[in-house]
Amino acid sequence: MSAKKNYNLFARQALLADGWMQNALVSWDETGTITNIASGQNPGADKVDVLIPGMANLHCHSFQRAMAAMAEMSQSKSDSFWSWRKLMYRFVHTIAPEHLHDIACLAYMEMLESGFTSVGEFHYLHHQINGNAFDDPAEMSHQIIAAAADTGMDLTLLPVFYAHSGFGGKAPSPQQYRFIHDVDGFLRLLQQITSHHKDIVLGMAPHSLRAVTPDQLYELLTARQSGPIHIHAAEQQQEVKDCMAALGVPPVRWLLDNVDISPKWCLVHATHMQDDEIRDMARSGAIAGLCPVTEANLGDGIFDGASFLSHNGQIGIGSDSCVRIELTEELRLLEYGQRLRDQARAVLAPVGKSVGGNLFRQAAIGGAVALQQNSGTIAPGKRASFVSLDMTQTNLSGRKMDAILDGWIFSCQRPAIEHVWVSGTQMVKNGYHKNHEAITRAYKDLLKKILHKDM
Ligand SMILES: [Zn+2]
Repeated sequence: MSAKKNYNLFARQALLADGWMQNALVSWDETGTITNIASGQNPGADKVDVLIPGMANLHCHSFQRAMAAMAEMSQSKSDSFWSWRKLMYRFVHTIAPEHLHDIACLAYMEMLESGFTSVGEFHYLHHQINGNAFDDPAEMSHQIIAAAADTGMDLTLLPVFYAHSGFGGKAPSPQQYRFIHDVDGFLRLLQQITSHHKDIVLGMAPHSLRAVTPDQLYELLTARQSGPIHIHAAEQQQEVKDCMAALGVPPVRWLLDNVDISPKWCLVHATHMQDDEIRDMARSGAIAGLCPVTEANLGDGIFDGASFLSHNGQIGIGSDSCVRIELTEELRLLEYGQRLRDQARAVLAPVGKSVGGNLFRQAAIGGAVALQQNSGTIAPGKRASFVSLDMTQTNLSGRKMDAILDGWIFSCQRPAIEHVWVSGTQMVKNGYHKNHEAITRAYKDLLKKILHKDM
């Protein structure tokens, strides 16, 4: 189905910006923008049972999908994020531009089949394997952009500025050479991307306070004032300790006190915060970019969602290392981490509200803000990016409104995504991306070539 042939969709139940609507007819135009939502049938319209907004995946390093679950062998009693990172650095040296394209296609396809309709690619694999820039310094960025176009995913590209291996401007290690820029080189990269691509949202991502000095951060923020800004912050306790030693305060506190943190910022992870940082970050409007599956896989810690939401903080979710790409698992684990820590139930919802309903809405809206994508709710003027659920699933039987979201997030035994539209074009039908077979075949062929090479 293409947007030109079909501009109407009838849903027996639709989750709109202001609540659930029964018998909703959603219409959109050729540009993929919703033009109208009315109650009632249209004999020519396709029909679905349940329609919900597409979700933003606000934090992803798609190339890491190809090394998923390769660090599950115990190496020592002190395995940690840092030992996982060593493996990742070795893997990085096997990835050529065309590899990046095929891996990103697979990851984006899996995201779409999971209900994500936009992605924030936190992209730091910029240079050749020897660390020299490609003839076109944006070569690797072009591959990401092509993968998004080829899979029909709405993209917010977040080129990463990475300069140092630790606080205090420590020199990068040879394993990091593919990531490294000076400020001028990085701004040229952004310029190169802008001159080639008009149809993506372009932001930037100073990697973290350990990889970027305060002076470099100020320079970047002065040079580029448009687009979203994402930064890793307080993912690891060691990082918090090192930040306090170098800058006198923890990373989130430093950011709040030294730059103008606002809703254009996404602080990725923000796992280890003091009470005052939680309160002030929530007040700033910055989005907490939560990646519960990766944070669990890497043993990072548990974000204090109960406190952050009690201060009206905004959250979104991301698949980060892409060890799994599963929307409901991110939301479920976010809630379950709180329950296990607090020995309580239904932590991330106001009294009387559904946990699944609250988490889904918060993450869809917060994720769209973080990526500056005009989606996350179904309403006139928004992109026609939405998902229908397969209500023949046993665990969804007879459910209505938010009870559907609870059933989907907490109890479904099988993937329940039926169809997915991105900006008006249907990309997933009956659970499968329209190019599922070709994308999967290319990826499997690639894995045979690169797995274990030089590792
Ligand atoms: Zn990350």
